[in-house]
Amino acid sequence: TPDVRPMVAGNWKMNGLRSALDQIKAIADGLDGPLSQKVDAVLCPPATLLYVATALAEDSPLKIGAQDCHHHNSGAYTGDVSAEMIADLFATHVIVGHSERRKDHAESDELVLAKAQAALGVGLQAIICVGETQAERDAGQTLDVLARQIAGSVPEGASAGNTIIAYEPVWAIGTGLTPTAADIAVAHDFLRSRLHERVGSEAAQMRILYGGSVKPSNAREILGIAHVDGVLVGGASLKAEDFLAIYKTY
Ligand code: PEP
Repeated sequence: TPDVRPMVAGNWKMNGLRSALDQIKAIADGLDGPLSQKVDAVLCPPATLLYVATALAEDSPLKIGAQDCHHHNSGAYTGDVSAEMIADLFATHVIVGHSERRKDHAESDELVLAKAQAALGVGLQAIICVGETQAERDAGQTLDVLARQIAGSVPEGASAGNTIIAYEPVWAIGTGLTPTAADIAVAHDFLRSRLHERVGSEAAQMRILYGGSVKPSNAREILGIAHVDGVLVGGASLKAEDFLAIYKTY
């Protein structure tokens, strides 16, 4: 999308012990250079590593995000982590509505919306994930699902500055499968039109990332697709070398 600052984001999921901190350091150090003036990089390690990660990334272009947040800022929610707590650790982003949360924790669009609102409320940028399952795709419902998820989980106050959309077909996550370039282009174009209905003119500049089996070997093709403003990378973000290779595709 013209005039949109692209983003490469990594999602470590439930991976990463203290011994993985050297990978975060390597990513932070590896981003230095002119490319960081043009392309954002965000890494979302597990909550346990967030505080150390923000310290490691402090003097680098790397931004740190969380993978989920609770929709309340504090209270009797044993085991949960709030957006306010994440922001307090100097993290700047939070993923909400990842398909693994939607599925494994039965998160509804309504809950994802509340989480996104909580994130924006404390000044975090929300990375809101949407995407169809294999069954929905087979039933020809892909665009219906995307329409419902955008209408249901993107807050009214969402702007290009505080919200990022990630199109992640569930069947493409961790499988090595990716949609065709044409299918990705259709989905992203459709998402932008739905965002226009939801948030008006802000939609023009809002980043729409693609996620699902992105790796160094297919990054060039995917980043070259119309309406793809970056990528959200799972497995291939665990190794600094791979994350940096994808980033340097720009
Ligand atoms: C993800 O979990 O957001 C993701 C895209 O995973 P992977 O890159 O491993 O398919």
